[in-house]
Parts: sequence; C-alpha cells; structure tokens
Amino acid sequence: MDTHLKEARLFDYPVHLTETAGALAFAKSRVANGQTAQVVTLNPEMIMQGDQNADLGRVLKNADLILPDGAGLVWALRKKGCQVKRLPGIEFSEALLAWAAETDQPVALVGAAEAVLGLAVENLIRRFPGLRIVYQHHGFFKAGEEELQIAKACAKAQPKVVLVALGVPRQELWIERYKPLFTGAILVGVGGSLDVWSGKTLRAPAWMRRVNLEWLYRITSEPWRIQRIYKTLPMFVVKVCLAGPKA
Ligand code: UDP
Repeated sequence: MDTHLKEARLFDYPVHLTETAGALAFAKSRVANGQTAQVVTLNPEMIMQGDQNADLGRVLKNADLILPDGAGLVWALRKKGCQVKRLPGIEFSEALLAWAAETDQPVALVGAAEAVLGLAVENLIRRFPGLRIVYQHHGFFKAGEEELQIAKACAKAQPKVVLVALGVPRQELWIERYKPLFTGAILVGVGGSLDVWSGKTLRAPAWMRRVNLEWLYRITSEPWRIQRIYKTLPMFVVKVCLAGPKA
C-alpha cells in the first residue's frame, strides 16, 4: 500500500495538500513498507531561506512529505487557487506520537536544551500512555564527529518516529544527512515543538489558530522572532504578489 497525496507548487517548492489524516496515512504506509521518509513543515521563512541557502533549498524540494504549516504559505497557495488548509507541524507530530503509542512504534527525540527535553519526555509519556521513547538527546552538540555519533546511536535504537528539534535549517540538513542510517522511519523537523511539550512555551489559543494567527501570538510571546520574520515575510509577500498566478 502507498498513499498518493495531491501536490501543489509555490516557486518550485512542492507542498502536499493534505490534512492530518492523509499525512498520517502516508507515514504509516512508509513505515509498513520499510521506507524511511523526511517530513518538512514548510513556511514562508523557510522558502526565503531556501532561496539563499542551496543546501536547504535542495532538502525542501526533495523531502518526501511537505506539509503546509505556515499561514503565509497557505495565503499564497490560496491566491493561486489551491484549496488548502493549514496543517501545523506540531499537530502532525502529535498525531504521529498518538499512533506510535497505540501501536508500540519506538520513538526517538533529538533536540532542545537538556532540561526542556527531559520535561517534554515526561509530559509526552503522561499524555500518550504506552509511548516508548527508545532514544533521546539534547540538541546542543557539535557538528562533525559528535553529531555523527548521536545520529548513529539514534539509528541503532531502531526508532520508527524520529522528531528532530534543532531549528531551521539545521534540523532539515541533519535529517537529510542521516536518513540513510534509518530503516522504515519517519523523520520530522519539529522546530520549537519540544519547548511547547515541555511547557516552556505555549501555543496560541484555539481561536487564534482557527483564524491562522498563531504566528502573531508567537511573535508577541517571543519578541526576538519579530526580527526574523521582518527580514523575510515582507519579501515573501512582494514575491508572491509580483509573480501573480505564476507563483
Ligand atoms: N535548538 C537546539 N540546538 C541548537 C539550536 C536550537 O536544540 O543548536 C533547539 C531549540 O532549543 C528549540 C528548537 O531547536 O527547541 C528550535 O526552536 P525554534 O522555535 O527556533 O524553531 P523554529 O522557529 O525553527 O521552528
């Protein structure tokens, strides 16, 4: 069994037009077939970074499952006439974890500060009874030998779900580089999700998520993000508007 997902394109960046159920079916099918998959949760900031950083651009274009995470991305796709709903990466990861707990699929977590990771693990085990975390490592390690040893130890534990929280682009590049070490595993770059699961940061209230304003909540609670968004989002909007239907 394999699951075919509808795909759209924004400036040569593919995006799968799917909701949680379709994305989860895809992941289950890959695990069942022993095929490893890289999942990217795409947003405008990543597209603008991908234009500047060829390695990141390549990973974003070649990932196996690319989810419409960013509100700005959904806006741009809808402008092109695509029927698409936002699928926050954290919600997909939670669906994966729920499935892993129910079906006893081993899970690995790589990333975040050590204390944050520890709290996140405690909370996730409480939230998803039966969740089996076979490997965990904080995300503050050196590139090169240390990074390689961590990837090897992670793969040796034979997880089927690997959530990597090292921030963009490091997490996407880590997954691409070490994906061949894994067998039938789903590897997802999850950004700040471990911080949320640890309780260190909060997600926006439900009404803000419903109207695609989660980004506004994030920049008000973490003001250092304003500078990051300010550098990329206006350029993205201009790029989409100038390209029109050719975007
Ligand atoms: N992080 C890490 N190692 C690093 C840099 C960041 O483990 O060298 C973690 C950081 O602690 C956080 C996550 O990566 O848990 C990235 O979070 P952020 O909210 O910046 O992600 P993004 O905005 O890229 O989704």
